[in-house]
Amino acid sequence: MSQILDGAKVAKESLERTAARVRALVAAGGVVPCLATVLCGDDPASATYVKMKAKRCEAVGMRSLRVDLPAATTTAELVARIAALGADPGVHGILLQHPVPRHIDERAAFEAIPPSKDVDGVTIHSLGAMALGLPGFAACTPAGIMRLLAAYQVPLSGRRAIVIGRSPILGKPMAYLLTGADATVTLAHSRTRDLPALVAEAELVVAAVGKARFVHGEWVREGAVVVDAGYNEGNVGDVDYEPAAARASLITPVPGGVGPMTIATLIEQTATAAERLLRSA
Ligand code: NAP
Repeated sequence: MSQILDGAKVAKESLERTAARVRALVAAGGVVPCLATVLCGDDPASATYVKMKAKRCEAVGMRSLRVDLPAATTTAELVARIAALGADPGVHGILLQHPVPRHIDERAAFEAIPPSKDVDGVTIHSLGAMALGLPGFAACTPAGIMRLLAAYQVPLSGRRAIVIGRSPILGKPMAYLLTGADATVTLAHSRTRDLPALVAEAELVVAAVGKARFVHGEWVREGAVVVDAGYNEGNVGDVDYEPAAARASLITPVPGGVGPMTIATLIEQTATAAERLLRSA
């Protein structure tokens, strides 16, 4: 039976470290890091995520600024609002909650975030920097997964990894980060053939598909490390947990695995953005 990759515990420790950095920032220059969250539309799940992020900000002594926009907002209006936050010296990080209403050009909205405030790692600049292994803010979910793997000293160099899902916020950046850590990475997607055989070869499986219990337990290689980034209705992940846990050496629970690490990484990166601003002042 496997051991749990306890994201809730590792995230709590990370938030405690960030709280200490925030106290030091306030003492050094009176700067209180501020994360602006932009929610466009009335998706209840998105509203819950935004609320959770604001709560975590406050728990570490940071400010959060919530911008709620109606579903009928145009791309131009959203871009202008984000650009104004970009120009506001009191705002250190900007998060545009995904997904936005369908009529909005999400890429244009993301690109309105200046790279220095892109603490969610969603811009082309951030993704490019991550792909090249250059400094910048990483996409929070894959970066949170890397921190979780590091906390459990999971060896990556030379290991075979499979990432299932190639979204720009999750699967693709995950593949970049694992490649940067010297893993040999297969990036699978909806056109991939013979997925079970590819999963069976992998020493690390990252599921980022958005389909409940998509990865069958019997696909998983004995002793593999399994990270389930999926979050589906009914608190269910993308991995069929019980049979996968019976074969894996380490596995993330859902909830309590990847989710808390994503938020802790966002908060940590907001503190970093404020520290950089103070240093450059
Ligand atoms: P997404 O944008 O919908 O991407 C899903 C990916 O899965 C796509 O690349 C798609 O391939 C691939 N896929 C779909 N069917 C497949 C199949 N049959 N075989 C192999 N690949 C398949 O989703 P996302 O935003 O990356 O999110 C994925 C999951 O992670 C969701 O459950 C989401 O809720 C969760 N999530 C969790 C967090 C967190 O903090 N815990 C953060 C973000 C997302 P194509 O590219 O070929 O279409």
